[in-house]
Amino acid sequence: MLTALAGASGTLIGLGRPNTVLAQAPAPSTAALIGNAGHYRFQVGDIAVTVLSDGLIGGPPTVYAGDANEAELEEVLRRAFLPTDHMTLNLNTLLLEVGGRRVLLEAGAGGTMGPNGGRLFDNLAAVGLSADDIDTIVISHTHPDHVGNLRAADGGRAFPRATVMVPRADWAFFVENDPDLSYMPVPEEFRRRFAANIKESVEPVANGIEFYEAGDEVLSGLTTIAAAGHTPGMAAFLVHSGDDQLLLTADLAYHPVVNIDRPWRPGPDRDQDAAASARRRIFDRAAADRTLVLGFHYPFPGLGRILRTDTGYAWVPAGWQF
Ligand SMILES: [Zn+2]
Repeated sequence: MLTALAGASGTLIGLGRPNTVLAQAPAPSTAALIGNAGHYRFQVGDIAVTVLSDGLIGGPPTVYAGDANEAELEEVLRRAFLPTDHMTLNLNTLLLEVGGRRVLLEAGAGGTMGPNGGRLFDNLAAVGLSADDIDTIVISHTHPDHVGNLRAADGGRAFPRATVMVPRADWAFFVENDPDLSYMPVPEEFRRRFAANIKESVEPVANGIEFYEAGDEVLSGLTTIAAAGHTPGMAAFLVHSGDDQLLLTADLAYHPVVNIDRPWRPGPDRDQDAAASARRRIFDRAAADRTLVLGFHYPFPGLGRILRTDTGYAWVPAGWQF
């Protein structure tokens, strides 16, 4: 989620989506300019699944590792060959093709979190689909980087036919009320835009929105798992077909290097203790069952497994399949 706070200068950039941007034409796609694949296809039993990148967001590492000792955090980032002043996060949405329906898990950030989001539509096109082909969109939690693409540039529905499902508790907290976001370790102006971006993004789909309670099997082959803490209603997802499973960890962790290999807590977790216990419960299950895991923000395509170690966990990326 959180992104685009500049590093050493302290200047704030890309804090959200100014209203004026909504009417402008989209920037030329990086996918077209560079040509690396932003999609990754595999099977979960009988379900065809495709990771579709919506691009990148990012921000200061201290936001994502909220309780880290700063010197220790710098050392960990250096040893992972990562910049120490900026952490890049991916936006790995997942398309399911199941029972003749196309279901998207997470809508992606669009332009709500800086200029490098919003690639989802190019990546749909790259697999021969358009926004019109999506029947259902299931959102893990209503932060802007998960709902931003729901709103088209003209203010209408970006996915004209899609039913959108969100956790009821998040809708109540972020959409029906003016949430107190003082727990977020970011400047007041960032919080204000963050809250406004959520309401703007979901406004076109509010009529007809469907709510779920985390724990529900929302569709055949897709069960939600209660993971509240990061937000009041956040759910993880289990995609299952036969004996095959894929676990999506939503924002239980932002980056494996700081939130799996190290136990540091994401600063934006609203209820830190509930988030930590959800993380332990779901990571323990993933490790015990050796389940394939997809992290929404992990390095593309975001697939791997979680190993239990003597002191915590380790992230083991999955090999690329051709
Ligand atoms: Zn997020």
